[in-house]
Amino acid sequence: MHLTLLKNGWIIDGSGAAGFAGDVLFEDGRIAAVGTVDAPADATTVDCTDCVVAPGFVDLHSHSDLQVLEDRVEKTNQGVTTEVVGNCGFSPYPGREHGQALRDFANGIFCGHSAWEFQNAKDYFAQVEKTSTVVDVRSLAGHGSLRVGLFGNHQDPLTAVELDRMTGTLDEILSAGSCGLSTGLMYAPGSGAPIEEIEALCRVVAKRDRLYATHMRSYSFKLIEAIDEQLELARRTGCRLQISHLQAVGRANWDKQCVALDKLENARREGIDVEFDIYPYQAGSTVLTQLLPQWALDGGVDAMQARLADSAERARITEYMQTNVAQTWTDILITAVKSARNQDVIGKRLATIAEERGRHPIETIMDLVAEENGAVNMISFNQSEANLRELLTHEMCSVISDGFYVDGKPHPRLYGTFPSLLGEVARDRKWMTLPEAVRKVTSKPLARLKLNDRGFVRPGLLANITVFDAATVSGPADYDVPDRPPVGIRHVFLRGRRID
Ligand SMILES: [Zn+2]
Repeated sequence: MHLTLLKNGWIIDGSGAAGFAGDVLFEDGRIAAVGTVDAPADATTVDCTDCVVAPGFVDLHSHSDLQVLEDRVEKTNQGVTTEVVGNCGFSPYPGREHGQALRDFANGIFCGHSAWEFQNAKDYFAQVEKTSTVVDVRSLAGHGSLRVGLFGNHQDPLTAVELDRMTGTLDEILSAGSCGLSTGLMYAPGSGAPIEEIEALCRVVAKRDRLYATHMRSYSFKLIEAIDEQLELARRTGCRLQISHLQAVGRANWDKQCVALDKLENARREGIDVEFDIYPYQAGSTVLTQLLPQWALDGGVDAMQARLADSAERARITEYMQTNVAQTWTDILITAVKSARNQDVIGKRLATIAEERGRHPIETIMDLVAEENGAVNMISFNQSEANLRELLTHEMCSVISDGFYVDGKPHPRLYGTFPSLLGEVARDRKWMTLPEAVRKVTSKPLARLKLNDRGFVRPGLLANITVFDAATVSGPADYDVPDRPPVGIRHVFLRGRRID
């Protein structure tokens, strides 16, 4: 038996209630006592004077599917002890039949280097069990990965037999321990999937009482239609619905956010179990191909390259982009490319790159995507501060990182989300109390997963604990220097074991 005593802390227990002075005793991996605890003779004592003792943070939306296998510490440094991967339709399984197509589909989001290959969910979970030691990993099955892994990368409608196979495979994945399903309906091939296909999968999720998280079909001009579609799925199937990284992208769409929130509030009154999440930054981040019409990606990279080399196809793509891209050309910052010759575009706005190249910005996007074989990442300044505040402080909102790795300059949310929420958002801007900020990254996201063994500082629960200094905690990572480490996170314990 191993005892650890966190002495003289200020306990913020994860419920949203005000903090209180006290000690926390762990016995092996669990919390044994909370309050005034006399130190047992054989306990390791950690002095927590002037520090907050909180439940370990939960990242409900992460893209570190491969990096959690390598014990990367970007999240640990922020106090994260549970990480949910497999978001936006991308999971690293099932790859038994179309492994290469699955890697091509997902690597832009995963930043995978080796020839990773997981035949099925069990293989991935076995690898997590074997090599992931600094965080508890939960994985959603990605709809895009399911489709590509089973049938290759195309957007043709599935036959009834294929749909049966897909729902059967999802059922197997959920029974192997996956915590739900994610869709990425702005990414091919998810973008081509009809509601009936997703409905069939959501029925499986509802039957197994797991979470359905969705990157919807649109966050800009068609935001409201996209919300309606997701609510309709939850209504038809009874699944628990999580709208991923809710926001209204582009100035022209900012006033749609209040309509979206009204819809969600009304749906809850109707009895639909829906909530949403967002990261505490005004900019988003994804692959540059996201700006293209997704039919241009149908068939994978080679098919896309053929279209980009064809002037008639380029004209069709341009026509789509002229009316469907909500950002301005200065809103878009290029953050990663693969080739040596284009390294100079990293850190530049698209408007600047276009000017330097003497090309129209839309042509520049197509050129870059073609030159880099699709592997270009961007940061995009999407939201207003007022809208971000309204989202973060909303009762339905959990706070997430949505962090992902790139070969270049990642979005600072990968390094700073959790300390920035506690410091810049709660303490400095006073958008919410500190206990409320802690709740939004602990018990609240865990309730979406129905994971009841953690998330509060309470006896009997897992000793996943983060100790931080409330006066100094902050996430100084920014768009220029994204890898600046967090400040004020003192200790992180995973199942009672100190990992910082
Ligand atoms: Zn997403």
